[in-house]
Amino acid sequence: MQLHTLTLREASEMLATKQISSVELTQATLQRAHEIDPKIQSYVTLADDVALEQAKQADERIAKGKDLTPLTGIPFAMKDAISTRGVRTTCSSKILENYVPQYNATVTQKLADAGAVLIGKTNMDEFGMGSSCENSALFKTRNPWNLERVPGGSSGGAAASMAAGLCNFSIGEDTGGSVRMPAGFCNVTGIKPTYGRVSRYGLISLVSSFDCIGPMTRDVYDCATVLETIAGHDPQDSTTFNSPVPQYNQNLNKTVKGMTIGIPKEYFVSGMDAGVENAIQQAIRTYEKLGMKIQEVSLPHTQYALPVYYLLLFAEASSNLARFDGTRFGLSASENAKDVIDIYLQTRHEGFGDEVKRRIMLGAYALSAGYYDAYYLKAQKVRTLLRRDFELALSSVDILLAPTSPTTAFKLGEKTNNPLEMYLSDIYVVATNPAGVPALALPAGFSNNMPVGMQLIGKHLDEQTLFQVGHAYQQVTDWHKQNPVIGD
Ligand code: GLN
Repeated sequence: MQLHTLTLREASEMLATKQISSVELTQATLQRAHEIDPKIQSYVTLADDVALEQAKQADERIAKGKDLTPLTGIPFAMKDAISTRGVRTTCSSKILENYVPQYNATVTQKLADAGAVLIGKTNMDEFGMGSSCENSALFKTRNPWNLERVPGGSSGGAAASMAAGLCNFSIGEDTGGSVRMPAGFCNVTGIKPTYGRVSRYGLISLVSSFDCIGPMTRDVYDCATVLETIAGHDPQDSTTFNSPVPQYNQNLNKTVKGMTIGIPKEYFVSGMDAGVENAIQQAIRTYEKLGMKIQEVSLPHTQYALPVYYLLLFAEASSNLARFDGTRFGLSASENAKDVIDIYLQTRHEGFGDEVKRRIMLGAYALSAGYYDAYYLKAQKVRTLLRRDFELALSSVDILLAPTSPTTAFKLGEKTNNPLEMYLSDIYVVATNPAGVPALALPAGFSNNMPVGMQLIGKHLDEQTLFQVGHAYQQVTDWHKQNPVIGD
């Protein structure tokens, strides 16, 4: 039996029936990570001691049979943008390379309370800025399906660690596709929940009005389980919803017959790889066979999604990243500094990578007097139009279906010299974040031996329908069960 390909549900059943202990499962996961991860480089930090301690506690809970949850004793990985008390949290940046948080993010705490076992922290594009993980200031992560290719970004390490079987589920973060795009590149299931469904407290902010923490898993069932655990109101984050979290897994098997899928016509234009288009068309046909209706819909402002997303990102990120100035967190380059301004300048000069500096400068420009109305304010107005596009399209259908990316995973180095081309790989995933709507990414086949991802986009707070429709697909396909052959 191969432990590293177990779903969360299977692992949980094995723990409950005492076929394996959490310490054994955790040791096996850590051992595999130490053996295989040097090839993939998905982890920034492997937290062996913390993991084994949490596993021991989980075994005690299991022995007593008290306070058990579906996650008790399950090894997971966490994107390195989410604070973990006592475990280094770098955001894959030099400026936070040695930063150890003194508190847990709400999500970290909820997972600890549920009894989950933190294996380690995963690599990402620095501060979440990128689509390939190549903007990590620490090292580059490779795609387990082909080591010459990128895993996607920015949660590339979280997706790669899942695909390589180095954790049982992982936690990513999606500001403009960072869960869905790497999930698609690595054949993993993942959700960007509705904005405000999961607390951002303790997440190192990129764009406070877009950021959404979401799970990556081997299938929809597991995704629903983890989201249910981490979602909910948090007094520490005033943007979280007060409404109760549904028991997502209860309605997974409800029939999808008679429901309608909307296909946004603006997403099926030139620029998409033939292999990707083919896989998506096949997925649409699979849904037709399941008795769903297919209807073309329009998201008329799609052409503005990418510029609006990036402009608002630059603006909010430039403001959010002002806190890294060498006087509070992480790196402080104060050698030979004449005064405090010198400390700010030196720290930021040494601590931030090129892409981060580019975005801070563009954001400061867009927010400056004289340009604010022309850029920032205008982009906010178009953001409202993007949001209305989704509301209108989703008023006549149950969900929307689209690819996660126009291509499969590209080669390392292929786009690093052309930021615009890198931004264009986000074309299908960025519009949902300014709109706030949820989107579930699913494996949808292969093109030239590389995974193709699709996403289902839903109404505000209607993750339930996404899970139901995604689960129906995974009952009749087995793309999500395919694993890369690596070091086995
Ligand atoms: N590719 C997006 C960007 O570079 C990803 C952002 C994210 O979701 N963290 O902004």
